[in-house]
Amino acid sequence: MGTTTKTVPPVTLTQRHLLGIEGMPVTEIEALLARSHFFASVIDGSIPDSDIPQSLAGKTVVNLFFENSTRTRVSFEVAAKKLGGSVLNIAVSGSSVKKGETLIDTATTLNAMHPDILVIRHHAAGAPLLLSRHVDAAVINAGDGRHEHPTQALLDALTISRKFGRIAGLKIAICGDIANSRVARSNLYLLGTLGAELRLVSPATLLPADIDQFGVPVFTDLESGIADCDIVMMLRLQTERMQGREIPSQHEYFNMFGLDEAKLMRAAPQALIMHPGPMNRGVEIDSVIADDIDRSLITTQVEMGVAARMACLEALIVGASI
Ligand code: ASP
Repeated sequence: MGTTTKTVPPVTLTQRHLLGIEGMPVTEIEALLARSHFFASVIDGSIPDSDIPQSLAGKTVVNLFFENSTRTRVSFEVAAKKLGGSVLNIAVSGSSVKKGETLIDTATTLNAMHPDILVIRHHAAGAPLLLSRHVDAAVINAGDGRHEHPTQALLDALTISRKFGRIAGLKIAICGDIANSRVARSNLYLLGTLGAELRLVSPATLLPADIDQFGVPVFTDLESGIADCDIVMMLRLQTERMQGREIPSQHEYFNMFGLDEAKLMRAAPQALIMHPGPMNRGVEIDSVIADDIDRSLITTQVEMGVAARMACLEALIVGASI
């Protein structure tokens, strides 16, 4: 991992769908990351575009997003097109879903048009799994409620391993609204499997009830939680999933849990910052550090998203043809 090579083969997965990181064999995670490194080299120009295999030629990817998204939807679209695929974006606000159609009916209708891959984002945990039982296409979970966001975790791991050359042994603090974050959950599985030294930092009111199952140290104070960390991963305050009483106010949240230059001094001297986006500036992160090109990996995460999604799309198509 961490190197560029033309010889990295496409990946085949044991599962027909990509619904989550939980339970994914470490060998498959590593293979997807190795292939993502290859695609990242195409994106950064060190390998020519002509070397991109057109493994999605003649294939159709449907983006079905029931929640708003800019970067994830566009990222899947760019990734599919780079591999020669066609992409259809279904805008739920203008679709029959708004007329009361159920998820299964929508899935059955789309299935009848024979797409090869369905990329779904939904506010309900488990929606991609449900969909996968009713369609012939391979399903990719692009974020389901508080559950998982597997391609985000893969792109985060890719970003980290390109920067540090490794993941094992790095001290990584995942900070903020853990309870509502599918990004945190997928990263706990993935970065934990790859040997990172993880810790969680969050107000007690924003910790999930099942947090103990991860066996990761939990801090309710940001400065102690990020002490000596190599990476500080901030999460968005996901107010759309909150009940309303989790934090006193966004201003107080920023004072205690928002990352600014002063608090960042507690991390390792060369610590780097990550955030899955979209950012709430001045709520979970201060603009000065979010925009510091020497410390922030946030734009790199977006770039790596395309590479990681190319590896995932390709794996599901290659797997289906075996
Ligand atoms: N974009 C990420 C997600 O869909 C993170 C966020 O929305 O805060 O989960």
